[in-house]
Amino acid sequence: MSSHIDQTNGALDERTIPPMGMTGQAFLDAAGSVVNDIERYYTTLPSRPVLPSISPGYLQKLLPSAPPTHGEPWAAIESDIERTIMPGITHWQSPKYMAFFAASSTYPGILGEMWSAALTSANFNWICSPAVTELETIVLDWLAQILALPHLFLSKGEGGGVIQGSASEAVVTVMVAARERYIRRHLERQGVTDPDEIEDQSCELRGKLVAFASAEAHSSTKKGAIIAGTRFRSIPVHRSNGYALTGEQVRAKIEELQARGLHPYYLGVTLGTTNTCAIDDFESIAEVAKDYPDIWIHCDAAYAGSALVLPEYQYLSKQMTLVDSFNMNMHKWLLTNFDASCLYVRKRKDLTNALSITPTYLKNQFTDSGLVTDYRDWQIPLGRRFRSLKIWFVLRIWGVEGLKQHIRHHLKLADLFVELVKSRSDIFRLLTPPKFALTVLTIEPRNSKPPELAEIDKGDPRPFQDQHVPIALETDDHELQIANDVTKEVYTKLDETKEFFLTASVVGGVYAIRVVSVNPLAEEKYIRRVFELLVEITERVLKGSDEKED
Ligand code: PLP
Repeated sequence: MSSHIDQTNGALDERTIPPMGMTGQAFLDAAGSVVNDIERYYTTLPSRPVLPSISPGYLQKLLPSAPPTHGEPWAAIESDIERTIMPGITHWQSPKYMAFFAASSTYPGILGEMWSAALTSANFNWICSPAVTELETIVLDWLAQILALPHLFLSKGEGGGVIQGSASEAVVTVMVAARERYIRRHLERQGVTDPDEIEDQSCELRGKLVAFASAEAHSSTKKGAIIAGTRFRSIPVHRSNGYALTGEQVRAKIEELQARGLHPYYLGVTLGTTNTCAIDDFESIAEVAKDYPDIWIHCDAAYAGSALVLPEYQYLSKQMTLVDSFNMNMHKWLLTNFDASCLYVRKRKDLTNALSITPTYLKNQFTDSGLVTDYRDWQIPLGRRFRSLKIWFVLRIWGVEGLKQHIRHHLKLADLFVELVKSRSDIFRLLTPPKFALTVLTIEPRNSKPPELAEIDKGDPRPFQDQHVPIALETDDHELQIANDVTKEVYTKLDETKEFFLTASVVGGVYAIRVVSVNPLAEEKYIRRVFELLVEITERVLKGSDEKED
């Protein structure tokens, strides 16, 4: 076989594949074709079923069981995308995707990913690529201004922002910082200075540390506590209170834990819970927090944080003076491709104190000068991608006004959906007032007095991610059982159509359907259609249960 390599490279080079996998011309052709395919994918998305119709293990049957011995031409690989991959794709970018929360993709975001891939480097230190670090600091300062976060989160002071891979990663990162800050302060107060004694007492205290949050907080808080090696407690929240955690509950939990000799060190508060987009009562929690300055407070605004681009929501931004750290995912609702989870801390020293370890090979004059940011000390991994590029592209293409229009568009679509739901109050009921474009509804069973939702608090905070775990709600409440069964049946039948993808959840013992249509391609006609389908299925299910009764 003749070598693809220019022989002037030297006789030792016997590789048959060009160093970059393709020649420059072949790359131009392939990339041009991929870009065309991607554009065609987005334009044909609405006509594709949003959910795949394959069975587990489908891909094994389509792909060889052994890797190719010899390289293949790009054309063979390219055609396999449609043949083998597409059948197994859940189309998150489809306007008929209304499940979980969105994971936005946009063309500027994709372009950012392309350049990030082209400039691949590990970027752990400033000197790894100064532009990578400096652009991250700049775009996160821009974003903090766009979201009207308190100035204390800007890099010019003692705080700053960093891009993490996910909200869960952000939680673990700040939890470790919280744990180390709590232990350090505690031991300093005890006057412990001997290094062995510090180590012994730290280990002892660690076993007594407790992270806590509302029962509606995302499961990543509990997972974070497991990873940080501390305990976790959740506080039940109630429908009568909009599933919000209050200062009174926080104080009661702290006192209860302390009375048992435990040390609460981390409180997770949420702006927009996963199930219902509840907002914890930051004002009353702030009052309580004044009495417990050693407890780190982290605000998880993974999804709803994007709404802070709108002035009408920025009263919430002001309340962030309460927290030590704040996180929102631009990749959920702010037009930026996964992953772009933006974490802000009030004092960056808290992160670097906990996470900075500098072996000799990472030392350099710039780090030593203290004039540069080394983001490796603000996160768990060492290496990091050039994620700020896509944020920069998105912010520049949309501008602040464009971002506001984008969020308002989705809020209007959600208002429309809520009006439609209210117009059929004979068959649908809103579980909670709609928030941040999320609507949570249940089906009104016929021939049965609907349960009084305000009185239901079964405390079953099953995370919505587990929806594919069969939900067999055990309840002695006959009316609730009927309502849950009928809502579940409607959800299951809608899911079977594969025309739309919604999520079901269990909130305080109530089985409910969540509708959230916030990906960039969301449109009114799909909102109207999903409503129509819900009505059609609900009427059929209710008619079926009427007939069973007769
Ligand atoms: N927090 C909230 C409120 C969420 O809704 C989610 C996911 O939907 C997360 C955290 C976890 O996000 P990530 O996938 O970025 O870890």
